[in-house]
Amino acid sequence: MKARCPECKTDTDTLPHTGVCSACHQFSNDWLIDDWAQFVKMKKFLMWCDAVVFLMALLSLAFCLLISSDYLVMWLVSLAIVPASLSFHTKYLAITRPDDYQGHTSKDLRSWIPLI
Ligand SMILES: [Zn+2]
Repeated sequence: MKARCPECKTDTDTLPHTGVCSACHQFSNDWLIDDWAQFVKMKKFLMWCDAVVFLMALLSLAFCLLISSDYLVMWLVSLAIVPASLSFHTKYLAITRPDDYQGHTSKDLRSWIPLI
């Protein structure tokens, strides 16, 4: 694993726990981390989360279409199919192209699910 300070571009072997660079003493949340295995592991976990949300939205849609369409909340939950499938697809593309990997920041491992 390698980490690069976003301020002074110094490479280190480990990411400092405090986020403070030992060379320039600047704090940053945007360290560039070069760790393909950890990146794939986190992306796969987020893909599982997307799959669970997708399945819940699909069940909600089936409930609305087949049993009762009176519940507005169930229709709204069904709308989560769209972001869940888009998010799953972009994460799938990211982990199937190791040649395009240039390192990642903590922002690359965010999920849309807490926005619900
Ligand atoms: Zn630095």
